[in-house]
Amino acid sequence: MSFSSLVSDLTYRDGNTRPQRPSPHSSLSTTTNNTHNDTRSQVSRAKSYASTAATSVSIAGDISSQLHGGYSHPLARSWQAERQLTKSMLIYPVFITDNPDDDELIPSLPGQKRIGLNKLVPLLQPLIAKGLKSVVLFGVPLSPSIKDALGTAADDPQGPVIQGIRLLRRSFPHLFIVTDVCLCEYTSHGHCGILHEDGSLNNALSVERISDIAMAYAEAGAHCVAPSDMNDGRIRAIKLKLIESQISHRVVLMSYSAKFSGCLYGPFRDAAGSVPSFGDRRCYQLPPGGRGLARRAIQRDIGEGADIIMVKPASQYLDIISDAKELGKDMPVAAYQVSGEYAMIHAAAKAGVFDLKTMAFESTEGILRAGANIVISYFTPEFLDWLET
Ligand SMILES: [Zn+2]
Repeated sequence: MSFSSLVSDLTYRDGNTRPQRPSPHSSLSTTTNNTHNDTRSQVSRAKSYASTAATSVSIAGDISSQLHGGYSHPLARSWQAERQLTKSMLIYPVFITDNPDDDELIPSLPGQKRIGLNKLVPLLQPLIAKGLKSVVLFGVPLSPSIKDALGTAADDPQGPVIQGIRLLRRSFPHLFIVTDVCLCEYTSHGHCGILHEDGSLNNALSVERISDIAMAYAEAGAHCVAPSDMNDGRIRAIKLKLIESQISHRVVLMSYSAKFSGCLYGPFRDAAGSVPSFGDRRCYQLPPGGRGLARRAIQRDIGEGADIIMVKPASQYLDIISDAKELGKDMPVAAYQVSGEYAMIHAAAKAGVFDLKTMAFESTEGILRAGANIVISYFTPEFLDWLET
């Protein structure tokens, strides 16, 4: 039964079955038309009775079942969220090539570009004016034969990342600079470490190399180093080198702790040129069903000295973000909404499935609700505008 028919039903029953009570204003109404007065008091009583009866019916016994009032106003709705998306939560991924004048759209990553150093300041200037607080830098070496088995170009002092750090520190003193630390963009085989002859990862050499690269970025001025390679023990190695070099007090160590393997990195690999030349990364990135393994990786990285733990991808792994928040309850949790998630949202919006902005917010709010308080997002430029309104 609808609410309106319930009210009219109760009003009808009231009019037919209940004895009439005297109107509280009856003494003032003696000179008025009695018929009119009776009708008015009857309607008034019926309304009052109907609303009381209807409420008691819908409450079904417990007053705490009534929730709508708590989120009836837009501001009250925003208060329902534990965390509200703000500009300072966002980190924007930037791809820098070794060709200074590059300015090229990435076809599989709508609206995103690969740029050279000469285009870095022009790209970021308007975003910083709108409130951009942080970027994460990815180097994209394009020069022929620059890649080798050791990923030598990763920490080349003249390479795009180290030069990019220095340029950004000079140009935007308040911008927080994160550097992704990995080898896959720089190795001839496209894997995230140094390999044994049989093609498997040489963990010891890889950790040595990854921690050296992290140190080079930190010494160049990065505020945060973020190893994404997934070699065992690299967080401890980086932390120890930061301590030895007496710069651990000024460098944030953000670990891609729970980085899952899967098909959502396709557009990124196009962007960064980091497709493995053979095999895949399933022996070092986590298997998609591995919740317990992810929890162990997160706990390990916290124990090894990570300052921030990250989950990647984000929307398919909200349970892992929630686990990260529980395991690292006293530390920030980052989530990377990866290239495939971003491209999917764009494709679906283009196909008319939903509105782009609505889904950008909905997916990000889901990530925050799960427990993240930092989001690496390709939607950052749009959010800087959207959050303004
Ligand atoms: Zn990698």
